[in-house]
Formats: sequence, C-alpha cells, structure tokens
Amino acid sequence: MQHSTSLTRDLRELPPIDSWAAFEPAGTATVACSCGLDTGHIPEGEAFAIDREHRAAS
Ligand SMILES: [Zn+2]
Repeated sequence: MQHSTSLTRDLRELPPIDSWAAFEPAGTATVACSCGLDTGHIPEGEAFAIDREHRAAS
C-alpha cells in the first residue's frame, strides 16, 4: 500500500478587513491518506504527530 498523506491546517474566517477576506489559524488540522486514513478535525499538534508517524510506518 502506497501512503500519501496530506495535512491540511484549518483556517477560521474573520470579519473582512477593508473588504478583504481575513483568516486566522484555527488550531486544528486534518490528516488524510490515500489508504483511507482520515482523522477529521483534531488539534494541530496531534495532526503533525500522526502525519509523521503514519509516514514512518509506511
Ligand atoms: Zn496511509
């Protein structure tokens, strides 16, 4: 099985600043993999750890 993980950091939308869309890190992230892994929204630190461990395990 080929593992190809992708980590996506969640962004939180803020009220527009001077009509520009504004975002800030939400502190959560999701990790998905071609093998079917999908962590859903979990704390960012945990997501980075899972991403690293999942690659190491492949
Ligand atoms: Zn995988």
